[in-house]
Amino acid sequence: MRVFHSPASARHDPDRYFRRGSIVTHPEQADRYAILREAVGRAHDVSEPGDHGLEPILCVHDAGYITFLRETWDRRHELPGVADEVLSGHFSRPHMHRRPDGLLGLLGYHTADTSTPIRAGTWAAIHAGAQVAVETADAALEDGVAYALCRPPGHHAYADSAGGFCFLNNSGIAARRMQARMSVRTGRPARVAILDIDVHHGNGTQGIFYEAADVLTISIHADPANYFPYYAGYAEETGTGAGIGYNVNLPLPHGEGDASFHGAIEKGLARIAEYAPDALVVALGLDASEHDPIGALRVTTPGFERAAGLIASAGLPTALVQEGGYLCDALPDNLAAFLSGFEGSR
Ligand SMILES: [Zn+2]
Repeated sequence: MRVFHSPASARHDPDRYFRRGSIVTHPEQADRYAILREAVGRAHDVSEPGDHGLEPILCVHDAGYITFLRETWDRRHELPGVADEVLSGHFSRPHMHRRPDGLLGLLGYHTADTSTPIRAGTWAAIHAGAQVAVETADAALEDGVAYALCRPPGHHAYADSAGGFCFLNNSGIAARRMQARMSVRTGRPARVAILDIDVHHGNGTQGIFYEAADVLTISIHADPANYFPYYAGYAEETGTGAGIGYNVNLPLPHGEGDASFHGAIEKGLARIAEYAPDALVVALGLDASEHDPIGALRVTTPGFERAAGLIASAGLPTALVQEGGYLCDALPDNLAAFLSGFEGSR
């Protein structure tokens, strides 16, 4: 299996954020990149992506948001006192629509929480991650499967906002890329499914495609009633307009293990089979692990291998895009188990 990654991923390295009433070590650290890179380097053909520019990113994200992400660090002098990162402590609400000119206001407009500080290397890291997703999408269509080591993750990013450690929605970018390529290849509008198995609901992905019937979004995650992202991820959210019926949420009670996880994946795969897409993106969070420091489910390492086997049996061209999965001894083993499980079942 071809694997794509970029050393630029390590250039965004937040060190703290506000969680449950206190300032804690940021779980989404640059070390994740090094550990996942080491885990895939042993068994796979690893390479860096070409630069596909902004075009595939702008198929998913608003231009004004991208400009904000590119320029914020260079505008930091507008905020006296900023040292190593630019971060807002206040955020726009759904009933406050005005996009202001000032940097502090823009920060609160384009971010959902305190987990996505913008630092000197943030744009380089997230831009590289998107290029990794694009290259992987292309490779998956050639080879049948490929893996994108994207870091930071992407599935909490909406078209115009960051949040939950995420800036650019790499899974969404890969999906639109595969769709465009497959449409050219088949001569008809292609359809893509995104299966998100990260322990957190893929709210950004849901938001991006909520009105779309040509991208089916399915998320398996821990019940958000008392868990991030709180305000989305419920079973009754099925899409809107033309997208009604093309968003599926499969929340699981906290503490569930392999059997429930696999049952939800089988349910998702049944819906995907009915939809009959041309390609599949797996939003590959590994934080459903029993050992994950911020997880809420109890999936084992063999459980990830089995999950991969189930997904591989769908027989679709598949881009595996890294989402969450935080620092613990099991993290590299879970990635290796998933990739070998996928390859063993193709
Ligand atoms: Zn997650």
